[in-house]
Amino acid sequence: MLDAQGPLDYPSLQSSLFFETPAEIYARVFRVLKPRTPPPPLQVEFCRFANADSFMRLEEGRLHIRISDLLEGAPAPVMEALAFILLGKLYRKPVPRIYAHRYRLYLNRRDFRRQAHLVRQVRGRKFISDPQGKTHNLDELFERLNRQYFDGLLGRPRMGWSRKPARSMLGHFDPSHNAIIISRIFDEPHVPLLALEYVMFHEMLHLRYPVDHAGARRRVHTREFREAEKTFPRWKEAKELLKKL
Ligand SMILES: [Zn+2]
Repeated sequence: MLDAQGPLDYPSLQSSLFFETPAEIYARVFRVLKPRTPPPPLQVEFCRFANADSFMRLEEGRLHIRISDLLEGAPAPVMEALAFILLGKLYRKPVPRIYAHRYRLYLNRRDFRRQAHLVRQVRGRKFISDPQGKTHNLDELFERLNRQYFDGLLGRPRMGWSRKPARSMLGHFDPSHNAIIISRIFDEPHVPLLALEYVMFHEMLHLRYPVDHAGARRRVHTREFREAEKTFPRWKEAKELLKKL
């Protein structure tokens, strides 16, 4: 098929647009742009950016795609357009203008702009970093521990890394913002994962055991809380690791 767009006119993609995960969309668009190269393993993540920015990078043969969660509910054709834009940029491939146009149209929709505005407001108020650090992803860690120790029953709050690698506060649960913040000190490859897991487990117990307001005293770490904490495997070892941070 050849039309006004000549060689840039890719085969019609509409039929495959539905029921694809974002990762599948990226793999398919990759095959369109680079038909002779098998798509690398790729990972698509929706991140809590304050705006609609999206990023892609190739690292050790893996494609990491980070998309604003503002676009999480975007229709598949919009997701496809963004895949063309990002992959085209990364691999310096010409991309039909229709994709840039389609994507811009979506960003300019009134409902989208309104939502983006609200998100900027809310996220601007309390800084909560992206759960994806340079080494660990807090959302993934939360879900793994949730399955391991809480039968997957805890609802995931917002997760973020502290601005600075603080030693004074290794982690905290902020009920007003429903957020768990973990010290950036743990986002280093040389820091044992067990230490991070233990701190996360502790913060997760705060979701499980609410603050005890009985009497005049406000008890954050109740007796049950302390008992539950000891059920963490390698509890002592983990505590020792924290002392040596
Ligand atoms: Zn605590």
